[in-house]
Amino acid sequence: MTAETKPEKMNVPLLDLRRQWPQIREEALRRVVQVLDEQSCVLGPMVAELEQEIARHSGVPHAIGCASGTDAILLGLRALGVQKGEEVVTSPFTFFATAGATVNAGGRPVFVDIEPDSFNIDARRIEEALTPRTRVIMPVHLYGQCADMDAITAIAAKRGISVLEDAAQSLGAEDKGRRAGSMGDIGAYSFYPSKNLGGVGDGGMMVCRDAAIAERLRTLRTHGGKQRYFHDEVGWNSRLDSLQAAVLVVKLRHLDAWSEARRRNAAYYDEALAGIDGLRTPKALPGKRHIYNQYMVRSDRRDDLMKFLGERGVGTAIYYPLSLHEQECFRNLGYVRGQFPESERACRENLSLPVHPELTEAERDHVVRSVRAFHGAR
Ligand SMILES: *Cc1c(COP(=O)(O)O)cnc(C)c1O
Repeated sequence: MTAETKPEKMNVPLLDLRRQWPQIREEALRRVVQVLDEQSCVLGPMVAELEQEIARHSGVPHAIGCASGTDAILLGLRALGVQKGEEVVTSPFTFFATAGATVNAGGRPVFVDIEPDSFNIDARRIEEALTPRTRVIMPVHLYGQCADMDAITAIAAKRGISVLEDAAQSLGAEDKGRRAGSMGDIGAYSFYPSKNLGGVGDGGMMVCRDAAIAERLRTLRTHGGKQRYFHDEVGWNSRLDSLQAAVLVVKLRHLDAWSEARRRNAAYYDEALAGIDGLRTPKALPGKRHIYNQYMVRSDRRDDLMKFLGERGVGTAIYYPLSLHEQECFRNLGYVRGQFPESERACRENLSLPVHPELTEAERDHVVRSVRAFHGAR
């Protein structure tokens, strides 16, 4: 297999959900029709079934569906008692929703720089960010790999503060055999279509071990009332649609196999892209089961590499181009450029390569050949 016999260009999408759909089409449609025949379109038995299955998959007793991953964080913070102006310690290198939901919950995001190997919050720097107003530590398990949960839960226990895991990208990831979302007080999942378990629209779920917190979350998602039309507090309308649940219960049965396929693709890249000057492959840390929602390389010429790959048909993306402490809307938090150098560097260097389960061998090879060609490696 020499380079000459292969086409220069091949379309390799970063993600193509049309390839996944035929695998579940028949059963998903059957479930969708069931919901429509029953006309139980919001919550209902299909959502209850999904909640049970997700709870089991995560190894926790309670799961509560809601309208999105963003809402899972928002309701989660409220259930943990975050009051106006109280601080939530989190990563500045994450999807916007982590901090956006914090503000909408009434909290104030306090950022702690990331650890460069994992892109996750640097647990060694958390203590210096804590104040008497800190209410929650919210690690983000970015790209499919868990943050250092032993260190984080130990700090939280010592200080009597809560932990909410933003596990939106990490349903099924593990830290020492424990599932992402199951290690803190609450775990938040997203079913946005591009996540490892994606619906056909928006959806989310919260998981927890404590029955009282579960009850609070159920209340908050339906306008703060335990009993219909009687409200103990003001909550939200954030429920999971039964149609989403119908598709998600079917997909959940494939999730672990799909994650394994992502892991195989990642292992292939790890080997084929090792030792290239100016390029770093992502690190899977010991004791963690990385499920590669993204396969994130670092390049010292990221923008040029992205352009080069685009010309060869390889789909890539930058997650994320601007650290949250530099966002216009957070100017009032008082952070300045240079304050979180690792997060800022990650914003300049990160590039996501196609790693989805439906990737073919020929596509994988094309990605590898293209990256190597750019870096002048043979
Ligand atoms: C996707 C995502 C969210 C938000 O989930 P939605 O379902 O899109 O609201 C939150 N945090 C992280 C890290 C995410 O990747």
